[in-house]
Amino acid sequence: MIAADQDKIITVKTPEEIEIMREANRIVAGVLSMLQEEVRPGISTFRLDRLAEEYCRDHGAEPAFKGYRGFPASLCVSINEQVVHGIPSKKVKLRSGDIVSVDFGTRYRGFYGDSAITIGVDEIDRERQKLLEVTRESLERAIRQVRIGNRISDISRAVQEYVEENGFTVVRQFVGHGIGSQLHEGPEVPNYVQSKASPRILEGMVVAIEPMVNMGTYKVKVLRDNWTVITADRLPSAHFEHSVAATENGPLVLSRRQGEVC
Ligand code: MG
Ligand code: MG
Repeated sequence: MIAADQDKIITVKTPEEIEIMREANRIVAGVLSMLQEEVRPGISTFRLDRLAEEYCRDHGAEPAFKGYRGFPASLCVSINEQVVHGIPSKKVKLRSGDIVSVDFGTRYRGFYGDSAITIGVDEIDRERQKLLEVTRESLERAIRQVRIGNRISDISRAVQEYVEENGFTVVRQFVGHGIGSQLHEGPEVPNYVQSKASPRILEGMVVAIEPMVNMGTYKVKVLRDNWTVITADRLPSAHFEHSVAATENGPLVLSRRQGEVC
């Protein structure tokens, strides 16, 4: 995700480029599926980062986040009230009842992949369960709007309406993004409808759609490490992300995981 209000170039990709991006995203999907199996009480977020990077390199890709604007790790791990950009640490161990967002990016043959999921550690309470389900479903609804001729605001509206109907809020300060030979390209993909004009979705456009959904206020702040984003009221937050191409046959989810229900 990127901070809002950064003007970046919008590109469209050829079918061949989309195929490479599908490979880049398949590796991301493999990392996230592997992490779903590894997440358990007592495991450190540092260990998750190591496992993710190893899997990525073993599959011929580079971890995209490592060193990006100085980010010190390969995996963003954000627990409970942390929204995004949590830094892995040997000192931070998962506990039963936590929800943990894992966000991973790859660079493969000159193109990027980017996807995220939020996982419950052991048993989680009903409110957290609902938060995960609503966030995931808002992403699915948004994906269905990735159609040639629609506007980016159709994606935003799909997320915002579903989330707010369910009593939660969408983060405004960080947004989804175009993706291609750069990790963060235009257009911005906000999770709320803005009053300004919104770009049309063109054939070959690839967007990383990433609802960040809070249980309480939509407001967030950045911790003193200059990375970790937390909710202003410290209530939990969830995050799911897919990289999606607009094709003449409709939305093509490049980062779909094996066995993922949709
Ligand atoms: Mg992203
Ligand atoms: Mg991401």
